[in-house]
Amino acid sequence: MKSPRFITFFLISLIIFSCSTVPLTNRKQLAMIPQSELLAMSFAQYDAFLDSTHLSSNQEQVEMVKRVGRNIEGAVVQYLFDNNYAQLLEGFNWEFNLVEDNQANAWCMPGGKVVVYTGILPITQDENGLAVVMGHEIAHAIADHGNERMSQGMLQQYGGVALSVALQNQPAETQSLWMMAYGVGSYYGALLPYSRLHESEADHLGLIFMSIAGYNPEASISFWQRMAAASGGQSPPEFMSTHPSNDTRISNLQKWMPEALKYYNKNDGGSSGNKSGGSGTGSSGDPKKVKIGG
Ligand SMILES: [Zn+2]
Repeated sequence: MKSPRFITFFLISLIIFSCSTVPLTNRKQLAMIPQSELLAMSFAQYDAFLDSTHLSSNQEQVEMVKRVGRNIEGAVVQYLFDNNYAQLLEGFNWEFNLVEDNQANAWCMPGGKVVVYTGILPITQDENGLAVVMGHEIAHAIADHGNERMSQGMLQQYGGVALSVALQNQPAETQSLWMMAYGVGSYYGALLPYSRLHESEADHLGLIFMSIAGYNPEASISFWQRMAAASGGQSPPEFMSTHPSNDTRISNLQKWMPEALKYYNKNDGGSSGNKSGGSGTGSSGDPKKVKIGG
């Protein structure tokens, strides 16, 4: 029989070796699910979701979602390579789809599998607004928030010891944890809203990613104001009540804005080429009028 001391040692080792670090914020997090397992589940669930839903046939909007997605993908790849986090992108297979659905929602599953719902487009209004949403959702995936939620769920459910058992021999339990962590809207029901910590982190990373991609980060403030006005009591799971209060969110965005604008203004001179795409559909964003550090 194993001694309690051995089990404690095993548990502590498991947890220590299951820690990773979130890019940009450098927060240590629990991430017990191997990337290969996560991606396999993600790709299967993503395809199943797409089979169960209607893709938008509005070519202009579909192209916009793919264009903004690819630009943010480029920014994420650049940021992670520049900051020695390239390994986080292993096995990624980016995809950006627009589905016909009235919910004001969007999400990104592990490996860069993004869905935007048509119902959020009236709130995003233009490509800068869409970049806020897609940057935020992609940031949740890059910061591995789903893995962290699944790992916390596993610790609660199995005490951490039976990770491999849970993954290999109890597919139903693993599946239900997956659904809790990643469930996609009303289709699956039981989605846990992200915590405030995760939301703030996604706001911060998303702001930097959109700025590197050439989209005006100041659009984030007006987007979240429109989102708050539009979602009175009817928020979809990803935008539910554990989000930071709108005031907190906006004061955080303002705090990070000088950092974001440095990345955004670096794009001047046309090296990235996304800036015209970012502001070309009705945005009034003009980086020259921006007051840095105010
Ligand atoms: Zn979020």
